[in-house]
Amino acid sequence: MIEASNPVSIIGAGIGGLTTALTLKQHGVPVRVFEGAPVLKPVGAGIILANNAMQVFRQLGLAEKIAEAGNKISQLKITDAQLSSLSVADLAVYERKYGVSNTAIHRGELQRILASALGYEHIELAKRLIKIEKSGPFHLTFEDGSTASSAVVLGADGIKSVVRKQLFSENTIRNAGQVCWRGICPLSLPEQYQGELNEAWGQGRRFGFVKINEKQVYWYALANATYAHTEVDRLGDLFREFHDLVATIIAATPREQLITSEITDLKPMQKWQHENVCLIGDAAHATTPNLGQGACQAVEDAYVLGKLLTAGTALPDAFADYERLRKKKAHAIVKSSWNIGKLAHLDSRVGVWLRNTLLKSLPAAANKQQMDMIFELN
Ligand SMILES: Cc1cc2nc3c(=O)[nH]c(=O)nc-3n(C[C@H](O)[C@H](O)[C@H](O)COP(=O)(O)OP(=O)(O)OC[C@H]3O[C@@H](n4cnc5c(N)ncnc54)[C@H](O)[C@@H]3O)c2cc1C
Repeated sequence: MIEASNPVSIIGAGIGGLTTALTLKQHGVPVRVFEGAPVLKPVGAGIILANNAMQVFRQLGLAEKIAEAGNKISQLKITDAQLSSLSVADLAVYERKYGVSNTAIHRGELQRILASALGYEHIELAKRLIKIEKSGPFHLTFEDGSTASSAVVLGADGIKSVVRKQLFSENTIRNAGQVCWRGICPLSLPEQYQGELNEAWGQGRRFGFVKINEKQVYWYALANATYAHTEVDRLGDLFREFHDLVATIIAATPREQLITSEITDLKPMQKWQHENVCLIGDAAHATTPNLGQGACQAVEDAYVLGKLLTAGTALPDAFADYERLRKKKAHAIVKSSWNIGKLAHLDSRVGVWLRNTLLKSLPAAANKQQMDMIFELN
């Protein structure tokens, strides 16, 4: 039994930490979230919440709010650089099956919805964990010199998790050899692109874009690491062989808001929990973004913990079951996403031709099998 006087400590107020906190709170488990950032600053990027995450948000009573703040996506298209389709995934069948839709949304908007549903009084800002030790309860030390003691800790502190680094033995971050730029621009897309995510695959680079609300488009561009030195002002040049719409989107984006990141993941690790401490989201199973599932898998983590609580398994006894139930799917996504990233970034003309020819000839059933697996909750 978790006492109100000694709540579960969740490190990190990202999508994983906030969704888990909300789930536990709804099950009557007292929580407090320690976030390193001094403010919950809206990140200047969008995110696609796939059907699996939206099913969880419906259970949490948030699906409608998220759908209203975002934009429904009914098709996922892989295209060539000129936006001619190579592969189309129709999501309507899952909308009918599950009653929710893939939704593209501004990350800041999603964070606001989650934090207000949880209640800001449960979130302590500017509490960057620098040390965690177990001496009976966990002893937490923060960057500002303050400390806290907690019987149960959830590490939702992202791919560079301090909780993982200090309390777990497996800690291999892998670099995929790709660089990514993300941005949001004020633009109205041509009608044909408004309800779909398009990802254009070129030679050693790709460009994705999606409408996130009536006024804004979220886009991401990836290139092999050899292009990592590209100045953001020259991004348009890097994508000059792409359809004109790509240049329009890049030109419409304020440069200072662009986010540049290396693409990394966490080598699948076997142990996500022990002795009253448990990892959630990217801290446990960070993936490359090629299947758009990193945050969705964090949301599924929260769902499974919630399901175990509903079935009467109290925290922290639920942690071992959670690890067992979640590992297979989360690891399958890490692996598949890594492989897709390699295929998307072939850098020779022949390789690109072969890849595109193969993609065009693949039966829809090949895509469907993977989506069935991803969209079905654990
Ligand atoms: C280019 C790109 C595109 C992506 N697109 C998608 C997508 O479309 N759909 C999708 O589902 N996923 C996507 N992802 C993945 C997604 O962003 C992550 O999987 C998701 O944000 C993980 O959530 P999290 O809460 O586990 O970790 P994070 O989002 O990393 O949150 C961790 C939180 O912990 C805080 N923190 C970190 N260290 C400490 C500390 N020591 N003390 C206290 N607080 C700390 C951080 O400030 C942060 O708030 C994408 C990723 C990338 C890189």
